[in-house]
Amino acid sequence: MVRLTDDDQFSTRCVHAGVEPEPIHGSVNPPVHLSTTFVQPDVAQPKTTDYTRGGNPTRDALEAAIADLEGGSHGFAFASGLSAMDAVLRLLESGDHVICADDAYGGTIRLLRQVASKSGIATTFVDTSDLDALDAAFTDATKWVILETPTNPLLRVSDIRAVAERTHAKGAKLLVDNTFMSPALQRPLDLGADVAFHSATKYIGGHSDVLAGLLAVKDDDLANDLRFIQMSVGAVLPPLDCFLLQRGIKTLQLRVDAQSAAAQTLAERLVERLGAENVYYPGLPSHAGHAIHAGQSRSGGGMLSFRTPDAVSARAVATKTRLWQLAESLGAVESLIQVPAAMTHASVPKEMRDAVGLTDGLIRLSVGIEDVDDLWRDLETALDAL
Ligand SMILES: *Cc1c(COP(=O)(O)O)cnc(C)c1O
Repeated sequence: MVRLTDDDQFSTRCVHAGVEPEPIHGSVNPPVHLSTTFVQPDVAQPKTTDYTRGGNPTRDALEAAIADLEGGSHGFAFASGLSAMDAVLRLLESGDHVICADDAYGGTIRLLRQVASKSGIATTFVDTSDLDALDAAFTDATKWVILETPTNPLLRVSDIRAVAERTHAKGAKLLVDNTFMSPALQRPLDLGADVAFHSATKYIGGHSDVLAGLLAVKDDDLANDLRFIQMSVGAVLPPLDCFLLQRGIKTLQLRVDAQSAAAQTLAERLVERLGAENVYYPGLPSHAGHAIHAGQSRSGGGMLSFRTPDAVSARAVATKTRLWQLAESLGAVESLIQVPAAMTHASVPKEMRDAVGLTDGLIRLSVGIEDVDDLWRDLETALDAL
């Protein structure tokens, strides 16, 4: 196996982190361990693991990889992003309080409002880019802050370092949903977060063929608590899916850098055509929070949104593209287009959508790795129809 040193750079780590070739044949890629149980040399003496819910060599490799790439000490792989979020929320007790970004992923908001609330966990939704609003939302019962930056779909930026400081001063912990950036562009643990969260369904998998959630943490006690929940609840990622994610990770930096460069070009062309006030992309100097984003991320990433006048216009554009496929999800090699108010964020109550500016005419793009000029021509043709 290739042993990584502290000097090895991110792209090197993507290829080798967590990968331990099996010792008998020396295969470069580790075998996929489908076995659910493992022979024990003596009573209650497992070699490395006894049962796949508690531990599996293929999952261990992936968990080691995400810990390494996020600069953490422990990684966790779950059956979906939301089951990973649920595992964190299971650290809470009835009466505890959570603060969450008010334009977080729709499924995260639904989990807090409609599931965690049933266990007596209250949530306050705030604009986390407004540090005074954040401060005002803390109560004596606040245990976690859930931050997304940039957010989905308005790409609103929060200052991870500042939020981490304020959260810790109140004795709470910070989870950063790093799905949109991936560790190739932004590493929340380095900036003070306690948990780096991923819907690995998106950039980490990168091919729209695995549903998965990953967590990375530094703290041993927090890791022990999460390991207990992962093993007790069992929403673990199956070995074949772990293998697919590990394969996706090898090209993570290549993909994300290409997607980010293309998104920057497309955002600039959209500004020329629609005006800066109608384009949301953290790599644009005109974007609110651009400077903060530049101080905590390597580039703007592969996601952008733009405003059309209304739902009818958004539908007209989103149904006329050829290369941009009309679909939910994001982060994969193929480019996708969608209308958040009617699709990914339809479960968010309309008054919450209106409050954050998520209007019916908003269109969100997930930029793939196709040729950027092909993508632009296709988008322009659809915009001409407006
Ligand atoms: C998709 C997504 C999730 C939920 O992850 P699943 O893998 O779909 O369960 C959470 N946060 C963000 C930002 C996402 O895009």
